[in-house]
Amino acid sequence: MESHDVVVIGAGYGGASVAGLLAHAGYRVALIDKTPRAGGKTQTLPRKGYRYEMFGAVGIPATGSRFHELVDTLGIAERAPFLIPEGDNVAGIRYKATSGEWRAMSSPAHQTGSDTEIANLRRVFGATDADLEAMASMFMTALALQPADVEALDEIGSLDWLRGFGLSTPLLSQWCAILNMLFVVPVDRLAASETALILAQMATGGTGRYHVGGYGRVAEVCADYVVEQGGTFTTSRRVRRVVVDGGRAVGVETDDGFLAARAVVSNAGIQPTVLALTGETHFPADYVARVRELEPSWAIAGVRYVLDAEVFDAALIPVFSDQSWLDDERFAAMERGEWPDVPMLAVDVPTVFDPSLTPVPGHQVAVTQVFTSPDPRSPMADEAIRRSELVLDEVWPGWRVHVIRREPYGARHISRMTRDATLPGVGGEAVGLAQVVGQVGTSKPDPRTPLPGLYLVGCDAGGRGAGTHQAVDSAFHVAGMVREDLG
Ligand SMILES: Cc1cc2nc3c(=O)[nH]c(=O)nc-3n(C[C@H](O)[C@H](O)[C@H](O)COP(=O)(O)OP(=O)(O)OC[C@H]3O[C@@H](n4cnc5c(N)ncnc54)[C@H](O)[C@@H]3O)c2cc1C
Repeated sequence: MESHDVVVIGAGYGGASVAGLLAHAGYRVALIDKTPRAGGKTQTLPRKGYRYEMFGAVGIPATGSRFHELVDTLGIAERAPFLIPEGDNVAGIRYKATSGEWRAMSSPAHQTGSDTEIANLRRVFGATDADLEAMASMFMTALALQPADVEALDEIGSLDWLRGFGLSTPLLSQWCAILNMLFVVPVDRLAASETALILAQMATGGTGRYHVGGYGRVAEVCADYVVEQGGTFTTSRRVRRVVVDGGRAVGVETDDGFLAARAVVSNAGIQPTVLALTGETHFPADYVARVRELEPSWAIAGVRYVLDAEVFDAALIPVFSDQSWLDDERFAAMERGEWPDVPMLAVDVPTVFDPSLTPVPGHQVAVTQVFTSPDPRSPMADEAIRRSELVLDEVWPGWRVHVIRREPYGARHISRMTRDATLPGVGGEAVGLAQVVGQVGTSKPDPRTPLPGLYLVGCDAGGRGAGTHQAVDSAFHVAGMVREDLG
């Protein structure tokens, strides 16, 4: 029987990072993923000479992130260098003003408060001196927050918090749209603590980091590192069951048999881990009831394109009007088929960060994103994609003739590639647990489950921040807990 100190289920950013950190601490780690490679929702795939992102591709903050801490701790920084473009082509907003006119702005990774940014805000959003002061006050408040203030903001919705600064309608639209993109939840219930923390991170660390070779590259290097430290990394192998004996998790079962461990860390999601892989009977009834009720983030649907020209001029392009940003009410309307004039759309263009992703100079790889239900069976994805392409027609006329490959995706694909759909209506969530009031900070599930020896890692427990940053933040906390418990 094979025996390890720790088995990690899943090599998404949460799982691969915690496995790397525990291997670094001297534990013998077995890392197992059901797919052929590490990276989870950020896998970078080769296709006919092109390398492109399955889903998300932009790291925030650009500098001073948990990713920097991770590669420095493991000593792997030179194997997964970070890319932060120097020019002003990182963020390229397209905003449809109430007049119907499309306005564009392009910004570098670090811009908060710069003269160029101020000029852009005046031109694109019609910002007045008072509006700029309101925005500055929002950033200053975020930067001054102490840990106790952040905890208090766990209980406040972001829309109310933002409105408190007196932002004009276009600036409110800009920030709500950005927050939708970063957290994939309704802005009215997005916890203001997460908003304040990300504003502070953006102000100090900038926006837009990519990793040479693909955004998932750091996860791949972490998995290699586990093996170099004497552990194992098994791909295309699904964990079927967490094995419980004497009231504690003692290992996992895969098609290869039983793998014993002193601790099991799961990156498979809290609902799949508790309800399916381990089984409700091993947990207190009130814990199971809470787990069943947890709310997922929305899913994202869109298209991966390969283009034979440089159609898009920035790495990350949010496209929106004042009607686009989403709270609960607006999202419910979309679910009923009542879409806004411009569905909240983001275009990620990884080749702006790393031109070597295409074998042909001048070609582009881009991924569009529109928010949809996390239900893998929801029909929303097709309509979201259709509408997103009509918006592309408006903003980049003639783009369609440059498409040489088109691959639509949605909640069904996200679930198939990452998180099993354990309860009705969930599985395709783009981030993980929704970072809404009641599910963040002290209200977030504890990475230590009530079953001794079983821990959760990734976007469902133990971290803060946007997407992958949250997953790596969680890994640092969970590695600390496992070390504390195992000694
Ligand atoms: C379209 C899209 C765009 C996004 N854009 C961005 C972005 O630009 N920037 C950003 O920071 N974030 C982005 N995100 C969010 C981000 O990708 C996720 O929040 C983050 O990657 C989740 O990491 P995780 O470790 O929690 O879980 P996951 O990435 O979901 O990893 C879970 C892993 O567990 C494995 N697994 C599950 N069950 C089993 C099992 N039974 N046995 C073995 N293995 C198993 C899965 O295969 C997977 O590898 C985006 C997400 C999507 C879908």
